[in-house]
Amino acid sequence: MKIIGLLGGMSWESTAVYYRLINEGIRASEGGLRSARCVLWSVDFAPLEELQRAGRWDEIEAILVDAGRRLQAAGASFLVLCTNTMHRVADPLEQALDIELLHIADVAALEARGRGLRRVGLLGTRFTMEQRFYQERLSNHGLEVLIPDPPQRAVVHRVIYEELCRGRLEGDSRRAIEDIIHDLASRGAEGVILGCTELPMLLDLDALQIPALDTTQLHAAAAIARSLT
Ligand code: GLU
Repeated sequence: MKIIGLLGGMSWESTAVYYRLINEGIRASEGGLRSARCVLWSVDFAPLEELQRAGRWDEIEAILVDAGRRLQAAGASFLVLCTNTMHRVADPLEQALDIELLHIADVAALEARGRGLRRVGLLGTRFTMEQRFYQERLSNHGLEVLIPDPPQRAVVHRVIYEELCRGRLEGDSRRAIEDIIHDLASRGAEGVILGCTELPMLLDLDALQIPALDTTQLHAAAAIARSLT
């Protein structure tokens, strides 16, 4: 079993979900007392969130490269960056390391294509929804990407940072985000990528009008598969 390198803490609320899903998946596949071989480097999110807001991605890159090197030195066979947004620095991170990065947008895109989806909505932080790094990665897989309108994007962004990353699940916010997803569906989205690792904690995926892709669950499943090959 290959050792999974988890770069987490962004936020730890969803990193905890990754850890549980990965261990549950290894047990389901391998049985008995089998559990994941993994190392976790978990950052203090507050200074990183300030750097995001200030657009200081070079400094974020330096912090995450340092963390990635620590995971590599600890024996990780490949890297799982447990956040969509921080894939903003995926390219330099990959270049700085000898081990491979399991890119979350590739995993989401392959699942979308596997389900026969062509036009997908994308929800996440405003960085993920508005900057090129994530949409382009999805487009490279042949997906057409729709994002919410600016006021709706502000709602999703606020709910992620002010509620979900602080462990708060609010019914009003769940309904607001469901409405945004249904609006994307009425604009032609055949499915929606929950491109924030905390969003699945809030939503009831079965209550939505279109299929919703849970990037936390998909990324964890891809990590398990990679670990077992
Ligand atoms: N976990 C979130 C994501 O998947 C947001 C927190 C962050 O900015 O990394 O994008």
